[in-house]
Amino acid sequence: MAERNAYPMLSVEEARDRVLALVDVLPPERVPILDALGCVLAEDVPADRDVPPLDNSAMDGYAVRGEDLTGDGVRLRVVANLPAGQVLTRPVERGEAVRIMTGAPVPPGADTVVRFEDTRAGDDWVEVLKAPRPGANVRLAGEDVCQGAIVLPEGTALRPQEIGMLASVGRSTALVHRRPRVAILATGDEVAEIDAEPRPGQIRNINSYSVAAQVREVGGVPILLGVAADRTGELTDRIRAGLQANADLLVTSGGVSVGDFDLVKQVLASQGHIDFWWVNMKPGKPMAFGTIDSVPLLALPGNPVASMISFGLFGRPAVRKMMGYTDWEWPAATARLRDAIRRKDGRRHYLRVRLERGPDGLEASLTGDQGSGILSSMVQGDGLAVIPEDRDHLPAGSMVQVLLFSPRQPAGRSSTTEE
Ligand code: AMP
Ligand code: MG
Repeated sequence: MAERNAYPMLSVEEARDRVLALVDVLPPERVPILDALGCVLAEDVPADRDVPPLDNSAMDGYAVRGEDLTGDGVRLRVVANLPAGQVLTRPVERGEAVRIMTGAPVPPGADTVVRFEDTRAGDDWVEVLKAPRPGANVRLAGEDVCQGAIVLPEGTALRPQEIGMLASVGRSTALVHRRPRVAILATGDEVAEIDAEPRPGQIRNINSYSVAAQVREVGGVPILLGVAADRTGELTDRIRAGLQANADLLVTSGGVSVGDFDLVKQVLASQGHIDFWWVNMKPGKPMAFGTIDSVPLLALPGNPVASMISFGLFGRPAVRKMMGYTDWEWPAATARLRDAIRRKDGRRHYLRVRLERGPDGLEASLTGDQGSGILSSMVQGDGLAVIPEDRDHLPAGSMVQVLLFSPRQPAGRSSTTEE
């Protein structure tokens, strides 16, 4: 208990803010646009020309002079055929039409396109059965983007549509904030690598992989440092290896519960500046955070569920901040609890829940055993219901916030399964 009192009890927000205060946005680098997906732009991107560059047809049909369409049934002379990619410099004169395909530039003189469906064609003439309004079916030059306009300002997060916009203005590369390199070290004499046959008393190294996957999911680059035995020398060497691999963030798992506490404290404190915290949450109460050679280090608890939740609450925002994001909230939804929740510890609980659509919105039900080592309840979960620390009892039907996992596909027959 004495040990407990020596370290501060922080709220989740306080702990997160302390983590964020020690990480910075990473410098920019130029990468091919596809590699920039999920990154944040570090430059303004102007349009190099109008998009579309010329007035062009939005339909397959006939380019005509709007003034010629004095009513339905007008007959015009067809003077040319214009596929997409070709330009006609000959003007369309009064009483003339040019057969035109979608995307082809509208020839001079014409300002309107009549759809094939609204015409009846002969050898060298076309009859407009239904006259559109003048200017119809023409996409104007610059209607999407005007030359010189900033189409993507610095700070924009790049989704597929922004990648498309980069392509649209002729960019094959983009200047984006570098993806953080996150070095991940599992600790524990009992933790075995997954391709080795576990000896009696050993368990498999889950955390390196689940946390590395979280790093990759949020856009960082995981570097696996393997498993360190519970010895100061080995722990120190492995962490040093992470620094040599130019990690922007070091993450360890295990060795922060009371039994292991002194070991991690010794190692990390002797190498840099580390604070031990109790975070007022469940699972994942013990945590350490600090810097070694000015690289931030996040020491997660060892239980697989606790390590994932702690990484989600503290590591994920750090990675996003380094990538240049200014919003690091975990995406959330509101749902109605199907189960009643009782507890007395005054901690904020993160409960694994499954979500289903009910008659008036999402409904959340617990996925079963909430032990911090029960990974199957994460596998069956759609997210984490947040039970505020000041509520001892939440009756069934209460509304809660649910931090969402990426969408789960329930087991079932895939579309390629034979009937
Ligand atoms: P610790 O905080 O080191 O006492 O670990 C807490 C629990 O998590 C223990 O049951 C460990 O065996 C387990 N654990 C620690 N590291 C891992 C890991 N990398 N993968 C799976 N379980 C782990
Ligand atoms: Mg351990």
